Amino acid sequence: MILVTGGAGYIGSHTLLSLADAGYESVTLDNLCYGHRAAVLKGHFVHADLADETALSHLFETFPIEAVIHFAAFCYVGESMEAPEKYFSNNLVNGLNLLNAMLNFGVDKIIFSSSCAVYGDPFEIPIPESHVKSPINPYGLSKHFFEEILASYEVAHGIKHVSLRYFNAAGADPQGRIGESHEPETHLIPLVLQTALGLRPEIQIFGTDYSTADGTCIRDYIHVCDLANAHVSALSYLLSGGQSTSLNLGTGKGHTVREVFEHCQQICQLPIPYREVGPRPGDPPELVASGDKAEEILNWSPHYTLTEIISTAWNWHQNQKF
Ligand code: UDP
Repeated sequence: MILVTGGAGYIGSHTLLSLADAGYESVTLDNLCYGHRAAVLKGHFVHADLADETALSHLFETFPIEAVIHFAAFCYVGESMEAPEKYFSNNLVNGLNLLNAMLNFGVDKIIFSSSCAVYGDPFEIPIPESHVKSPINPYGLSKHFFEEILASYEVAHGIKHVSLRYFNAAGADPQGRIGESHEPETHLIPLVLQTALGLRPEIQIFGTDYSTADGTCIRDYIHVCDLANAHVSALSYLLSGGQSTSLNLGTGKGHTVREVFEHCQQICQLPIPYREVGPRPGDPPELVASGDKAEEILNWSPHYTLTEIISTAWNWHQNQKF
């Protein structure tokens, strides 16, 4: 049985489907603060918060947990600048509660949901995992610190970990069962698609003077199902005796904001009003993963193209269920 914290969230809920497809049983723990109960389509569900040590112990007593996939965290960069205490409390203190419960119950394998935000504003593209870690916001710091905590827990207590550093997760289940539903929504692709549907008056393009081909930021967009499958590969790797490691999960291909917008226009075939505005504070010009290490260690590589990412997202947004 695999414990999935934050399994009601965007990447967590897609990972539940991949786990089930691979034959794993799962139990989700989620406080439903941002997640959706309706997104948990597989496995058991426990409505609880990682701050609740009693509920956590009860869960470990009830289910024979073999390993943990830890998604539960706050993930808004802008909010983390305004309320760092919120990010450090949830992403670090509550994460420690989880690690301590694992210690108490003899569970020694964890897949951790990290982020390319650990690199800050990188000086090498594509970014290798060995790149210096200098996060530029409390969200990225919280991910970096937790990776370091995991390293200490391995030395002291033998807990093995794989930290997965996501680049830009996007897209939806190709069968349309689940998709991206954030409140508030801050991500480019869902905002463009919601604008196409008339749910928003316009999309703002943040920054057109970056030192990139068309002046807008470059990001490495990766399909959420590719990410989900990488978690299953990382889990199999740890369960078969793999060593702790940190891996980038991206496609190695960057796309500018304008390119994403144009792809969306082609797929939606609807007018999408947009306005060019100044840059969003804290946005580095370019983030693209080197994916060599994940391919080598997990034998994993992404399959979905940007067009497929946007098409699956568009399908979800037109028929959104939650
Ligand atoms: N972006 C934009 N308008 C928006 C939201 C995002 O131009 O309304 C840009 C943002 O500046 C970044 C890219 O789109 O360059 C991806 O942003 P997103 O918030 O989706 O992901 P992030 O890179 O912040 O994780």
